[in-house]
Amino acid sequence: MCTAIERIVNEHRLPEPVYITRPNMPLLNDYIRLLEEIWQNKYLTNQGKFHKRFEASLAQYLDQKHVSLFCNGTVALLVALQALRITSGEVITTPFTFPATSHVLYWNRITPVFCDIDPETLNIDSSRIEELITPDTRAILGVHVYGTPCDVQAIRTIAKRHGLKVIYDAAHAFGTFLKGRSVAGFGDISMLSFHATKPFSTAEGGALVTDSSSLKHRIDSLKNFGIAGEEKVIGPGINGKMSEFSAAYGLLQMEILEEEMHGRAKLASIYRENLRGIPGLTFLEQKPELSGNDAYFPILVTDTVYGMSRDDLCDALRRCNIVARKYFYPLCSRYSCYSRLPSARPEFLPVAERVSKSVLCLPLYGTLGEETVRTVCEILSKLNGKVVS
Ligand SMILES: *Cc1c(COP(=O)(O)O)cnc(C)c1O
Repeated sequence: MCTAIERIVNEHRLPEPVYITRPNMPLLNDYIRLLEEIWQNKYLTNQGKFHKRFEASLAQYLDQKHVSLFCNGTVALLVALQALRITSGEVITTPFTFPATSHVLYWNRITPVFCDIDPETLNIDSSRIEELITPDTRAILGVHVYGTPCDVQAIRTIAKRHGLKVIYDAAHAFGTFLKGRSVAGFGDISMLSFHATKPFSTAEGGALVTDSSSLKHRIDSLKNFGIAGEEKVIGPGINGKMSEFSAAYGLLQMEILEEEMHGRAKLASIYRENLRGIPGLTFLEQKPELSGNDAYFPILVTDTVYGMSRDDLCDALRRCNIVARKYFYPLCSRYSCYSRLPSARPEFLPVAERVSKSVLCLPLYGTLGEETVRTVCEILSKLNGKVVS
């Protein structure tokens, strides 16, 4: 490491590691009060009182007809495919996502077909979807990456024209609204994740959202072993249920959601203000029609302009105790389990390849101090042009 970088690291190193996220937790005493109720009820899972209340408040907050709670987002997405009877053939999806998105296809014996991404939204490029459709295509599985909605209208039109289902991995999109409408409500089914690393969490947890009451019924029995009545099993279901402990915690999360979003929005604006104009660094611009959740703060590093590669920048930040993350690198299409698929070839995915090699997510969560964000920005500004020897 060259001495100029060494000097910046020594001068600005934070005393403690700052991680990319940290859960905003409710007051322990509030949770204890709900735990006391659970202790009295002695009803711990299987659609209990807290489960029902949490489902109802989520449906109301998201302004959606039906919400089904799950033990996590991945099992929810597995069940979404089963509920839509998509258990063979091909599904067109994005390689620029968390591993779960591709893996749920594999676990349902479906071949993922990777589609390149849009350079502006970093989501599946709707103009490239139709060329990938074959007689085996069953559905389109989009991801609202970093909470930015996919081109939902174009995708709906394509799906209609070809008789395909649409599923959204909306794991990043809880609390984002497009022209006042929740981004969690598009497609036949949308999946939400309430993992501890997400802005809204139940430690582990997730949900499916749908407009259709028959789908809601099917989802609810599939997540409960396929049970549809005391003596009736409708099919090979799984156990995807959320317990009362998580549901009660989720209800308290709803009370602090506003505060968390507010904190994130403020810090994201400080990032934007201070990073704007640093040569070779870009970030996603805010769109007037979208009220975002600031789940992540990704920057894209153009190494030839910034003067340092994304990887070297990531290392330098870590030496400063700033634990930035390369979300999403490598692409799903690069995993050994998928890299042999014809659609996984890097030359077919030029935008996704470039973005995954230049993206870096900076720490962002409601209680991250403004001073820390300013320090991160100062380091990014000072490291600009410092060539690694
Ligand atoms: C977090 C995440 C998931 C997985 O959700 P879990 O609740 O952890 O199972 C799936 N897709 C994306 C895009 C995610 O970020």
